[in-house]
Amino acid sequence: MSLRRAIFPGSFDPLTNGHLDIIRRSLPLFDEIIIAVLNNPEKNPMFSVEERCEMLREILSEVEAGKCCLTVDSFSGLTADFAKKKRAAAIVRGIRAISDYEYELRMALMNRRLEPEIETVFLMAAEEYSYVSSNLMKQIFTLGGRVEGLIPALVEAKMREKLKK
Ligand code: ADP
Repeated sequence: MSLRRAIFPGSFDPLTNGHLDIIRRSLPLFDEIIIAVLNNPEKNPMFSVEERCEMLREILSEVEAGKCCLTVDSFSGLTADFAKKKRAAAIVRGIRAISDYEYELRMALMNRRLEPEIETVFLMAAEEYSYVSSNLMKQIFTLGGRVEGLIPALVEAKMREKLKK
């Protein structure tokens, strides 16, 4: 039987509980999930791709993954190319609201055109995280607002360290 492998691509700058919720929901669906961190220096990220991968690895080591193998990798360029290189059957994406849908639909259709064998699988965000985005978390945290419960404690500690510098 062939392995059901998926990639979950994103910026993860930084990882939020919304991302973790999507990861947890995808675990029973696949044998292997590669969390694929996009190397996007042009977006002026708060964390380097190495820092994002390191945080993900540390946090995911605590996640009860059952039979699913969870790994973290980084990539540059086209998501479809990375998915093909990894011989993934699916690209997982999260949908929070209708506002995500249009962009995600365009990307999914484009990725399907590039790689017709690879399906995009959309999972619905948990209601309690449906307004959570990495950008909002960075903004609120930078302005001194509370983000507890919305991002992992380790991520909050790393953001605090960043702000001190
Ligand atoms: P990108 O820059 O590729 O959108 P993100 O890290 O912002 O990268 O998001 C990666 C994926 O996680 C996207 O599919 C996004 O819709 C999903 N996602 C982000 N935040 C949440 C959340 N709070 N709940 C569910 N899915 C989310």
